[in-house]
Amino acid sequence: EPIPVEVLLHRVTERFSLLAFQSNIQFITRLGDKGVWVKIDRDRIEQAIDNIISNALKYTPSGGKITVDAQVDETKTWLHLTISDTGPGIDPRELPHIFERFYRVDLSRARQLGGSGLGLSIAKEIIEAHGGAIRATSARNEGTSFEIELPTCEGDVEDEQA
Ligand code: ATP
Ligand code: MG
Repeated sequence: EPIPVEVLLHRVTERFSLLAFQSNIQFITRLGDKGVWVKIDRDRIEQAIDNIISNALKYTPSGGKITVDAQVDETKTWLHLTISDTGPGIDPRELPHIFERFYRVDLSRARQLGGSGLGLSIAKEIIEAHGGAIRATSARNEGTSFEIELPTCEGDVEDEQA
């Protein structure tokens, strides 16, 4: 069902701000235009976003920062959701593979953090099923950034009047 982007962002923030605080990680959300709606299967798209933010929390050391930035393009047809962290980054040779099922980079194995290597493949599948796209950019020792694009839609009229 359609949901305003500020509601989506609020729900995500609600879930992660305490966790970030407990890990001594700054958690910042930025929202451009309000009143833009995205048509999503709420639980599934939230699972996709959760997977990305959980990774950011898991791989970013104490003292780091995670930023969730939501912007809409000029024509208001696409929502751009960017999740950036100040974690260890991903080697350029590994980066093309991170969305593959069961793929985990060596560094994370060495750090012995648990995980099955499925989170990102699931996130990609969900986002693409919504007509969206996801890509990652990263620099070693600087951090990683995931950009999610989702098509916007008309708002729910009843909800807007309420
Ligand atoms: P799971 O999500 O199934 O518990 P996972 O986190 O290892 O396990 P993915 O979420 O699919 O699996 O991520 C794949 C790999 O990409 C991770 O093992 C990790 O090496 C790397 N990775 C993902 N996100 C980040 C990030 N924010 N910073 C650094 N490395 C990352
Ligand atoms: Mg994961």
